[in-house]
Amino acid sequence: MQQIKNFINGEFVAPQNGRYLDNFNPATGLVYSQLADSEAIDVVMAFKAAHKAFESWSKTPVQERANILLKIADIIERRRQEFAEAESLDMGKPLWLASEVDMPRAILNFRFFANRILQFQEKSSDMDGQAINYSRHEPIGVTGLIAPWNLPLYLMTWKIAPSLAVGNTAVCKPSELSPMTASMLGEVFNEAGLPPGVCNIVQGRGETVGDSIVTHPGIPLISFTGGTDTGAIILQKAGKMFKKMGMELGGKNANIIFKDAELDKCIETTLRSSFLNSGQVCLCGSRIFVQQEIYNEFMDRFVQATKNIKVGDPRDKNNFMGPVVSKEQKEKVLAAIAQAKQEGGKILAGEESLELPEANQQGYFVRPTIIDDLTDCSDLWQKEIFGPVVTVRPFKYKHDAIKWANNTSFGLSASVWTRDLKTAHSVAQELKVGTVWVNAWSKRDLRVNFGGYKESGLGREGGDDSINFYTEQKNICISY
Ligand code: NAD
Repeated sequence: MQQIKNFINGEFVAPQNGRYLDNFNPATGLVYSQLADSEAIDVVMAFKAAHKAFESWSKTPVQERANILLKIADIIERRRQEFAEAESLDMGKPLWLASEVDMPRAILNFRFFANRILQFQEKSSDMDGQAINYSRHEPIGVTGLIAPWNLPLYLMTWKIAPSLAVGNTAVCKPSELSPMTASMLGEVFNEAGLPPGVCNIVQGRGETVGDSIVTHPGIPLISFTGGTDTGAIILQKAGKMFKKMGMELGGKNANIIFKDAELDKCIETTLRSSFLNSGQVCLCGSRIFVQQEIYNEFMDRFVQATKNIKVGDPRDKNNFMGPVVSKEQKEKVLAAIAQAKQEGGKILAGEESLELPEANQQGYFVRPTIIDDLTDCSDLWQKEIFGPVVTVRPFKYKHDAIKWANNTSFGLSASVWTRDLKTAHSVAQELKVGTVWVNAWSKRDLRVNFGGYKESGLGREGGDDSINFYTEQKNICISY
């Protein structure tokens, strides 16, 4: 059985303790590979390699660094199908989705930051003829990059690309639930000529590997994407050490649909914003508010379309949804649905039987589920489930929709559906979230920042915000 090792100093190495964890295929429930169950000692080895490599990588001309990042992008593009298949097998994402969305975005991450760093210009200003100020964005050192399982390669490379582009080195930790494609990156780095030690990947659990990265005194920056509870633990530990931290956390995003919405496009997009990747996208719109004049029409069509969603083997291109990522995640989702029922929620879709091929019967499949009639204070309106479950509710007035949308401790993103420009602007401005899409969902722009408010995180990733985050800014004032 394949053993996924660590990638340290340009080589694949076994964990020092020799132990491995089972890695499950979510579509079958069977163990299909193993990953290193690394510990602090492995993180220390990776740190040493990254620390040594920083000396020369941080001084490598920008053009040379950019060229290597562009080569990395080219190699992933050449191996795109292989990467997509690995990601689909590893975390249950439909193959078409991995191939059409995740891999292109991972490739784009390297291309975007390679080009951005070449164009990046430092600022200078004259002080009334007495002195000149100029600023420098200097690399910080060894960065600790921790990623979740839902968009494994895409989110990991969204951290690696800007960090390396500005001259940092890295110790990366992929999720133990989706280690495969990050491991394959090691091969790509070597082929692209990335010097050994610049980017190291340590596999294993959060409490061991993740914690060792977070608390390592030589790692001054932590970029974390994951759950809000984990984020809180990391903030407490790394905050005490005055580390620079980027936290991209959970979402419980609102999807507000006004009576003048273009319904065909809205329903098609709402299916994606609700159930893409089995609802395991931080930006999924899991709380749907529909203006009462169109509530019945919208629900009739949305419920029917949801019942028609094909769920099954992620390799079958006819299936829109695969399984959720793990047995625990499936149990968590089913428990949330059971609780909703107990609280009086009405299940409008989700209880149809799931016909699966024999090979997939032990897989972690859940039907896309729509729940109506829950009170505002129910857990399902408040807590992130991170599965294919949405709650729906009618609203009469715009101010009610805004109030309910903001009534959450999360603040990642929202969608607004209306043909009225005034409504679009006013609602977008009132929503307490980092990103608002109008008549769209999840169209990400690499050039501008987005992020969250409140429990959805601190810090912003994307464009020059990433350049700023991964560098230390220094002002130098020279007197004439
Ligand atoms: P998670 O918090 O369980 O794990 C994320 C990563 O942190 C994993 O690599 C894990 O091993 C590691 N980790 C766990 N405990 C740790 C610890 N004590 N110290 C250091 N590292 C630790 O999250 P998940 O279940 O992998 O991902 C799902 C969550 O991620 C959801 O809440 C989702 O909303 C969020 N997410 C947010 C964004 C965003 O951009 N805001 C994007 C994707 C996912």
